[in-house]
Amino acid sequence: MDKLINFQLNKMSTSISIIGCGIIGATIAYELSHLDKYTIDVYDRQQPAQAATGAALGVLMGIISQKVKGRAWNLRKESITRYQSLIPELEKITKSKIPHNSQGILKLLSSEDDLGKWAQLVTTRTEQEWQLELWNARKVITQLPQINSQFRGTAAYSPQDLQVDPVALTNALVAAAKLNGVNFHFDRSIESITADNQHSCDISTPDLPTVTSDWVIVAAGLGSTSLLSTHAPIEIQPVLGQAIQIRLPQLLGNPDFQPVIISDDVNIVPCGKNDYWVGATVEFPVDGVMTAQAECLERVKQIAIDLCPDLAKGEIVRTWQGLRPRPNHRPAPVIDRVGNNQRVLVATGHYRNGILLAPATARIIGDMLLAD
Ligand SMILES: Cc1cc2nc3c(=O)[nH]c(=O)nc-3n(C[C@H](O)[C@H](O)[C@H](O)COP(=O)(O)OP(=O)(O)OC[C@H]3O[C@@H](n4cnc5c(N)ncnc54)[C@H](O)[C@@H]3O)c2cc1C
Repeated sequence: MDKLINFQLNKMSTSISIIGCGIIGATIAYELSHLDKYTIDVYDRQQPAQAATGAALGVLMGIISQKVKGRAWNLRKESITRYQSLIPELEKITKSKIPHNSQGILKLLSSEDDLGKWAQLVTTRTEQEWQLELWNARKVITQLPQINSQFRGTAAYSPQDLQVDPVALTNALVAAAKLNGVNFHFDRSIESITADNQHSCDISTPDLPTVTSDWVIVAAGLGSTSLLSTHAPIEIQPVLGQAIQIRLPQLLGNPDFQPVIISDDVNIVPCGKNDYWVGATVEFPVDGVMTAQAECLERVKQIAIDLCPDLAKGEIVRTWQGLRPRPNHRPAPVIDRVGNNQRVLVATGHYRNGILLAPATARIIGDMLLAD
């Protein structure tokens, strides 16, 4: 009798294997874990949030992006909206704080920026019921006295965009998903996916029996290409980013107003106490070789110091680098079915915006499963 009941329960449940536990795999696991019909297992060859996610600055440039319609805008809008509830929800479930910054993003515009385009963006965002402001130099320096007093330009201020600690967020997603019954298998590398029929697929690990599940979701960042090579040519290339953490004797500017500041693609991110993350470089492979270039990091640091001269008084307490997963020959991210196979889904190639786009990615994957 017990066996029969178990059999029926198993038949009612849909099994899902997720490969990869960066921000994408962890968010998918957490969002799907609310549905009782799924039995979810997540596999990662490392501990969570060690690859691209572990290097990210967590700046969520949604409303301030120049995307105003179509998929690129919808993914951003949906993700920023979900983050407003997701962070407090996870903090409540896990009873731990997820460091985040809700004071917005201030982007200094350069002489090359088209101010007419930015004014149009402000109008569009107002029509879309989002907030975005243009500040003149006087307002910028009054609000943020750490900015070089020589600044004469314009800035865009986006109060509803935010920044979150990507590692703390991923760990919270894992902890909350575990509470909802998701099984995590860390330090477990997946070698291959076999999907010979339309009903199930197998994943193989080196020393353990093959796992069969109803669905496989590949959220393996740069590891996705080799996992999918026999199914579909999804080429994900590394783009290196270096960043530093600068410790100062005191906070820059007004302690009560510490937004993320962006200039010339360089982010200055308040990250607790008197520390700031500064980054990141964007470095492509040269002749197929990916090596961190010291001069690229020096340039980023110099841009930050030119912008906020007091950063020069700080001490660099940490330097790190990571590889962003960028799709070749197609727009980021790749959220799709794999080839003709109905049972393998992919959510990868989020390039520079994986932290930002994780919530919308998880929703799309959820819809694909529910459409079955
Ligand atoms: C320096 C830097 C700064 C960044 N700043 C930002 C930012 O401010 N905002 C933002 O939105 N994005 C930012 N990004 C981009 C962001 O980090 C990525 O888009 C995002 O982390 C991708 O998440 P992911 O889960 O797809 O990949 P990953 O975090 O790389 O996770 C993939 C996981 O899959 C696992 N895996 C791979 N192959 C296998 C296998 N065969 N078997 C088992 N497990 C496997 C890996 O171990 C890894 O844990 C930044 C990136 C870098 C490098």
